[in-house]
Amino acid sequence: MIETGHLVKLRKELHSYPETAGQERSTAERLRRFISAFNPDRVVTGLGGNGIAFVFKGQEEGKKLLFRADLDALPIKEISHLEYRSVYSDRAHLCGHDGHMTILAGLAEALDSNRPLKGEITLLFQPSEETGEGAALVLNDPAFAEINEPDYVFALHNLPGYPHKSIIINDDIFSSASVGLTVCLHGKSSHAAEPSMGNSPVKALSGIIDALDRIQSDTSLFKDFALGTVVHINLGEKRFGTSPEYGEISMTLRAYRDEDIEVMKKEMIRAIKDICEKDGIRYEYEWIEEFLSLENHDFPVEIIRKAAAELDLETVEMKKPFKWSEDFSHFTKKYKGAMFGLGSGKDQPALHNPDYDFPDQILASGINMFLNIYRLINR
Ligand SMILES: [Zn+2]
Ligand SMILES: [Zn+2]
Repeated sequence: MIETGHLVKLRKELHSYPETAGQERSTAERLRRFISAFNPDRVVTGLGGNGIAFVFKGQEEGKKLLFRADLDALPIKEISHLEYRSVYSDRAHLCGHDGHMTILAGLAEALDSNRPLKGEITLLFQPSEETGEGAALVLNDPAFAEINEPDYVFALHNLPGYPHKSIIINDDIFSSASVGLTVCLHGKSSHAAEPSMGNSPVKALSGIIDALDRIQSDTSLFKDFALGTVVHINLGEKRFGTSPEYGEISMTLRAYRDEDIEVMKKEMIRAIKDICEKDGIRYEYEWIEEFLSLENHDFPVEIIRKAAAELDLETVEMKKPFKWSEDFSHFTKKYKGAMFGLGSGKDQPALHNPDYDFPDQILASGINMFLNIYRLINR
């Protein structure tokens, strides 16, 4: 039985003092202080920015496992009456990363009182998950090479809408690839009475929206699910005498498969080029927040299934990948591994909702899942 009282205290502290992507310095420091008490054999700091890892070594040869949690909060205002709500008005832990961190902190404590016999366990706290940058930053950081290459990598994400403590399993693809695209359009302003004397980007803008719609619904282009969503548009100013010079559109492309998102990217850029050239509009574009498709490997998924069964946790077998994205995908591209969901309650507000709060009653199940995964692999 895991005693979670002091872990709940840590979770609430992390919740009160959230830091967004790239800013997680005091969160990492809080974890360093908390986990150092559990005598890790090694601590590596400054990974990909504010990332921090704790290594627990076994006495005998065995498999090396890496468990990953995420450090960052969201730039969204929390709406709640919780005593421990965010002390800031512009950021909050609304994705439950405070809970994920606490689960790994609890795992560190369990490993201290029951030192691993075989292999090695690395607890990695990764920065900047929400922007899709952190995983790659950590993996490409020379300091990461100081950690022994893991044989297997695992991570979990809490999932509202599923029963408390249920384990949500996906073979093959866990979550989708996605990427943001911003296109800037430069025309020529003119008097609103004489738009033909200038060149407004309005037609190009609406042409791009139509193209996105046409491409995403052309099923002959894709092997699987693909979706494009316009997220922001900006055109001209509220000056009623002026036909605009500048326009901007941002959209998110997503697909279950990396190859489908590549097709979508290529088709969109071709369409934008055609539209703008035809209208004489100068344009530039930028790709932002690129996430790969998260592909789970067979053996790690089997281990997750066994670990859940041994703990008598209800499992939910997913038929399709999730449509959202996770940058843990970079880890399973490089190493064998898998991500699973941990149900955070059917009535729990959705991730990123302003009233979301990680339910502490699922902490112990998360810790036990990771412990069991280690034991099953290093029997
Ligand atoms: Zn999130
Ligand atoms: Zn998240």
